[in-house]
Amino acid sequence: MSTGTDSHLADVLVVGGGIAGISVAWELAAHADVVLAEAEGDLPVHSTARSAATYIPGHGSGPFRALIDASGPRYAALPELLGTPPLLTPRPVLHLAEDDTAARHLEATLREQRGEPGAPVELSPAEARRRAPVLRLAPVAAAWTAGACDVDTAALHDGYRRGLRARGGTLLRGARVDGLRRDGAGWSATTTAGHRVRAGVVVDAAGAWADTVAALAGVPGAGLRAYRRTIAACPVPDPSVLTVDGAVLPMIADAAERWYLKAEADTVLVSPADETPAEPGDARPDELDVALALDRVGRATTLGLRSVRTAWAGLRTFGPGRAPVVGARPEHPGFHFVAGQGGSGIESAPALAALAAAVVLGHPAPADVDLDPAVIRVT
Ligand SMILES: Cc1cc2nc3c(=O)[nH]c(=O)nc-3n(C[C@H](O)[C@H](O)[C@H](O)COP(=O)(O)OP(=O)(O)OC[C@H]3O[C@@H](n4cnc5c(N)ncnc54)[C@H](O)[C@@H]3O)c2cc1C
Repeated sequence: MSTGTDSHLADVLVVGGGIAGISVAWELAAHADVVLAEAEGDLPVHSTARSAATYIPGHGSGPFRALIDASGPRYAALPELLGTPPLLTPRPVLHLAEDDTAARHLEATLREQRGEPGAPVELSPAEARRRAPVLRLAPVAAAWTAGACDVDTAALHDGYRRGLRARGGTLLRGARVDGLRRDGAGWSATTTAGHRVRAGVVVDAAGAWADTVAALAGVPGAGLRAYRRTIAACPVPDPSVLTVDGAVLPMIADAAERWYLKAEADTVLVSPADETPAEPGDARPDELDVALALDRVGRATTLGLRSVRTAWAGLRTFGPGRAPVVGARPEHPGFHFVAGQGGSGIESAPALAALAAAVVLGHPAPADVDLDPAVIRVT
């Protein structure tokens, strides 16, 4: 509820308008009066706007794999709920091991995920080459994730934003929360745009800044660590090689996580899968990382990449154990983290938002999300 131009009274204040904040705000707004404060005027601009936009079953730590699995059917249902176009487009992933180190990595992954829904399956090196004729390297082992997809991240974020408004939520843009203190049973917040928000509960979904926001509130951080990752879009001299058997080339990823590539229009997106520790901020690509990506993909494929059309970097912020961090500490009730989405914040968003909203509201966990909230609680 707005109590004047700059004053708001709400059940919940969500801090951060990336995919984490906007999705959990939408879920919460079905049950509560929600105000979301985002520091930037445009959104999304930080990690959410810089991802590779992939949905890959079996990606990441166990909790993420469960959330990604539960997000699949939710992704299918969201277009009707949010009025978006279809959000997922199939794009399988080919995992390649070009040496023994990568082969051991791949074998361990396949063993760990055996029997899990959507897990990658082993593929012969010959079949891998048939499915990706652009390969120069001769893989020693390979695997295939059939159910992987591209995500229309912009439509997803926009759908949640419009959905939040339709549920009566308020979005404050250009409003960096710069003051946060306990006020009776709830919280009082101020923003750099002069807003004052009183709310019963705070949800800290500020991505790489989540521990900074916690510090404002006098709450210990969740042990988050941010790492920079780089992507370069490179024109492909002969774009016809990006189609195989009438379908777009699969995403191709080194099983030892030294590079990956993904076709996009007449370019390929290439990444050296870098993980450089970084402070929260506006990440910029390092020339060396861009050169590394070109070199590694150049040696692995016959794509003949010679130039970079554009390059960017973003932050992947991990919680302890590379699991997301959701909920409040008993000694700091009413201050909930929804953070630490690492490299999976888009693909896991629908289920993570539903689970986090249930935790914040004290509701039972959603039946379709096979993850005990205790596993991802803040410690
Ligand atoms: C190169 C790269 C590739 C990736 N690829 C994938 C992929 O293929 N699939 C996938 O699922 N994930 C991927 N990810 C990860 C994904 O992008 C992130 O997990 C996700 O975007 C995190 O969302 P977020 O909302 O937590 O963070 P952000 O999008 O960074 O949002 C946090 C927001 O909080 C705001 N904020 C900070 N402090 C304050 C404050 N005091 N007051 C108000 N607002 C504040 C910031 O302005 C920001 O907008 C990738 C990430 C990178 C960098």
